[in-house]
Parts: sequence; C-alpha cells; structure tokens
Amino acid sequence: MGKGIIWKMLKISILYDNRSKSRRFTYGWGFSCLIEGLEHNILFDTGARGDILFFNMEQMGIGLSMLEHVFLSHIHGDHTGGLVSILERKPKVTVWIPDSFPESAKFDIGSYGARVRAVSKATRLFKNVYSTGELGRSPKEQALIIDTEYGLILITGCAHPGIANIAIKAKNYLNKEIYLILGGLHLGGYIKKDIEHIITLLKDIGVKKIAPCHCTGEYAMELLQEEYKEDYIDVAAGSIIQLELSS
Ligand SMILES: [Zn+2]
Ligand SMILES: [Zn+2]
Repeated sequence: MGKGIIWKMLKISILYDNRSKSRRFTYGWGFSCLIEGLEHNILFDTGARGDILFFNMEQMGIGLSMLEHVFLSHIHGDHTGGLVSILERKPKVTVWIPDSFPESAKFDIGSYGARVRAVSKATRLFKNVYSTGELGRSPKEQALIIDTEYGLILITGCAHPGIANIAIKAKNYLNKEIYLILGGLHLGGYIKKDIEHIITLLKDIGVKKIAPCHCTGEYAMELLQEEYKEDYIDVAAGSIIQLELSS
C-alpha cells in the first residue's frame, strides 16, 4: 500500500438474477445489485419480488439500513417489483427513475416518504456516479455509470435501447473508456450473426470486461465468453465484484 494513498473498495453484490451462484441464494427472473464504496450506497433495480431480494440480501449480510439510493433502469416488473417492499420498510431513500414513468408511479413512490428524482437527460447523481439519461422508447431505459480510475463501469437493466447504443452514449458522455459492462444485455433469441455483430461493436467501442446476466440469453453469454475469455466475468445472484480504488 502506497504512503498517503487511501485505498477504498468498490463492491458490487448481485442480489437478484435469473441464476444463482449456489444453493445458498434464490434465483428468479429479474435483476438487482448493490454498489458500495462510493459516496452513497446505491441499489440498482429491485428484482421482481421483495421476498427473494430480501432473502439474498440477508444471505449476503446486507441490511436495509445500507440502502441509501435506489436507481430504477426501467419500468418492467422484473426490475421494479421489489421497490414497494423496500419503501414499506425503508421509506427514506432517494429513488432515481426515468422521467417517462407515469405520474401516478412518481406519486406512489413519493407517498412513502421517498425522495423521487426523475431523470430525462444524462445526469450526475453524486460523486463519480451518473445516469446515461433515458434512451430508447417503450420502455425508455437509463443505465448507471460509475467513473473509476480503471475506466467506466456501466450497469444495465435489460438494455432494451441496445447495449452498443448505451455503451456509446456512456463513453461519449464522460469521454472515457468503458472498463466493465454488467447486467442484462437482452440478446436472448438473437441468431449467431446478430450476436457476433454486437460483440464486434462492443470490442470496437473498447469495452474491456463484460459480466452479462439476466436477459442476456444463454447463447449470447456463450459467445461473449468465447470472445472475452479471461475478461468475461460469470455473475449470478450471490456473486460479488470487487475493485480496489486508490481514492
Ligand atoms: Zn429484465
Ligand atoms: Zn425489461
């Protein structure tokens, strides 16, 4: 450890996924992860069911008191279904949602006592954490960007707007290279040629490491693993990604 350097650990815990790392964790269709080690902890999406989310949180030693910000990528139930269970138990959180959410949904979230922050354009949440802003349509989706000394970490829910489009947006917005993409890449049902085209795009964009899960699709995951080799990170509910930061 260098003198005068403050080492911090960025920790991303996968709390909800279609697959689980072991039988200690419950799997279910959806995605959620907790990011620790930044100015505030941030829960990315909530999975479909509060009971599964809480079960896996408990297995990973994560208490509700640790949740400060909740970031919802898009309105689909497999990403937002667990939110009410959180708000019932921990209402004092900041919830970042796409501005396209219905007014009734914004009102409902606020009625628990949560602070609602609607995101339209690319924006900074707090130090080193950004949203791509709403991308695509039906549903509009935002992705989370963490700026680290290694490059950008881009976390996606379902990547409905297209993973390459989201990656280009993130890279251009902060004018930095992408170190890691984590989350659902929405390539289930795609044929080989189309998946290979997207992998080529991601390589051209310069995406260094990839941790696909949720709705990526088994075949796409296989092809990504072949291409990314040691830079492919296998994640499922119960997985932890850790990164040492120097400040
Ligand atoms: Zn999804
Ligand atoms: Zn979706």
